[in-house]
Amino acid sequence: MMKRRDFAALGLGAVALPALSHDAGFDALAESFLEALWKLDPDAAVAAGRFEFAPLITPPSNAQRRKTGSFLNLWLNRFERLPDAPLSTSQRMDRTMLLAKLRSDLWRLDVLKEWSWNPAEHNPAGPIDLILNTDWAPEQARVKALHERLKKLPGFYAAARASLSNVTREHTELALQQAPGVLAVLDDVESHAQQLGLGSLMRPDLDAARAAVAGYQAHLNKLLPTARRPWRLGAALYETKFAHDIQSARSARETYELALARRDEVLASMHAQAAALWPSVIGAEPPPADRFALIGLVIAKLSERHVKRERFVDEVRAQIPQLEAWVRDHDLLTQDPDKPLAVRETPVYQRGVAVAGIEPPGPYRPQDKTYYNVLPLDDLSAEAAESSLREYNHWILQILNIHEAIPGHYTQLVYANRAPSKVKALFGNGAMVEGWAVYGERMMIESGYGASPEMTLMYGKLHLRTVTNTLLDYSVHVLGMNEADALDLLMRQAFQTEREARGKWRRVQLTSVQLTSYFSGYSEIYALRERLKAKAGPAGFNLKAFHEQFLGYGSAPVRLIAAEMLKT
Ligand code: ZN
Ligand code: ZN
Repeated sequence: MMKRRDFAALGLGAVALPALSHDAGFDALAESFLEALWKLDPDAAVAAGRFEFAPLITPPSNAQRRKTGSFLNLWLNRFERLPDAPLSTSQRMDRTMLLAKLRSDLWRLDVLKEWSWNPAEHNPAGPIDLILNTDWAPEQARVKALHERLKKLPGFYAAARASLSNVTREHTELALQQAPGVLAVLDDVESHAQQLGLGSLMRPDLDAARAAVAGYQAHLNKLLPTARRPWRLGAALYETKFAHDIQSARSARETYELALARRDEVLASMHAQAAALWPSVIGAEPPPADRFALIGLVIAKLSERHVKRERFVDEVRAQIPQLEAWVRDHDLLTQDPDKPLAVRETPVYQRGVAVAGIEPPGPYRPQDKTYYNVLPLDDLSAEAAESSLREYNHWILQILNIHEAIPGHYTQLVYANRAPSKVKALFGNGAMVEGWAVYGERMMIESGYGASPEMTLMYGKLHLRTVTNTLLDYSVHVLGMNEADALDLLMRQAFQTEREARGKWRRVQLTSVQLTSYFSGYSEIYALRERLKAKAGPAGFNLKAFHEQFLGYGSAPVRLIAAEMLKT
């Protein structure tokens, strides 16, 4: 547990708290916490869509960290003292989630201290990009707010340099790789300023900002030769981070062991499917004895079936109404016809990472549309486009749409927005959100969607990726798995392309725990469903009612939702 500061010294006694005898009191307290948070952390405010904080910046300084520590302890104490009794179910979940967030933030600040060893933590580009490219005010006002923010960048980088001590080589290299991206965002600001006739007014501050980026680069290049902090988290930090971030009823170790068992089941099923498909897909030659070789050859051959590159976005658009119809006709859950999903090509400034993703409006901008961004393949070389198309082949593309859109992320979001809780929208549980999308894949296949041996095999491949993410993350950060073994796990044993596997190896070096969220959430949702099914008996269990009740709690940790649903 965290060491607390003296609350009396912080003046807590003098603060008049709202009355808490009814729901409105909790909501008022949560609201004042959020408003205080935005004042303390303008970058977080901008990310949440509160653009009036755009001219301010969050400096990564010791003074700021001291202020943050006091703030977190103060609010932790306030929410801890709240009695559960008068709160609604949703509010009790909110309170538990706020306590978890405050404890997690304190642990990151005082124990994990990523601010001291990960130079990529200190990257000002994200908020600048959001402020410039979100339509929250006329362009003139956006650029003027950015001008104020730019003036603070030299101080930002000075504080960042002073924060770093024992850095890792990998994160230092990442920060160096990202520096040109920061400069590109500054160029973007400059071209907007020029169009508005503000170019010469802003040039001195833009030049000072560029010099600050260059100074940070020079400092990182100096640190690089002696950078030797291990990037692997190790068992103790990993378990604690898992507990804070995932909020599972299981430990990281238990989740890892569950993933090992699930991997065996999935591989056995894929082996049977691939062996059955062998004669029709490959031909008369005898299949290899090695199951990985057999499965891999059948998947490679089937992957040749895919849409034409110029039809990629259109095909996604065409599948959405089909998925809606399937979910409706099979009585899987109720959808909202008033909230159509807008499929579009990923805006140019967001391109580069994901093939597809849901972009919901920020919690403070509910009037905005939800987009399904799909990366058009036009800009790729013929070879790269072919590789992407094989990866997102005829079957996998359908499962991608299930995961991202219906009944995955998009549908979950529609339900979450119906029970408005700013706490859940802002600090929603990532394992629940990803777990639901992964559960949705399985549930659709179980309902008979796309039923064929090919679909079953391809679903197995995608599901194995989810399972392998957990195995990889734990093996690398806790068990010390090396690069060669990691690439073998991903490529030979999970049928991923070399490009995908190398990208995953990089991601697991730079992040920890997040890769486990998909399987952790999925396995808890699935287990909850099976428990409820066993309780109700085959005739008493209603799948649609289960889905709607589950989603109705919003993006809360599965463990909290499960506790509620198992009560009755
Ligand atoms: Zn092809
Ligand atoms: Zn997802």
